[in-house]
Amino acid sequence: MAVPKRKTSPSKRNMRRSHHSLTPKQFQECPNCGELKLPHNLCQSCGHYNGREITSEEA
Ligand SMILES: [Zn+2]
Repeated sequence: MAVPKRKTSPSKRNMRRSHHSLTPKQFQECPNCGELKLPHNLCQSCGHYNGREITSEEA
């Protein structure tokens, strides 16, 4: 099994973790009801997407 030759320095470890930060969730207003919804997702409050109402049994 391949094993690292040296312990990763705190500097290198932190450089690797510089990409780990979380970004806040993006929201868009639903054009139908004005509620905040996730982009490219069905509106949770009115069930509209892309100008149409999409209702299914599981939703
Ligand atoms: Zn809506």
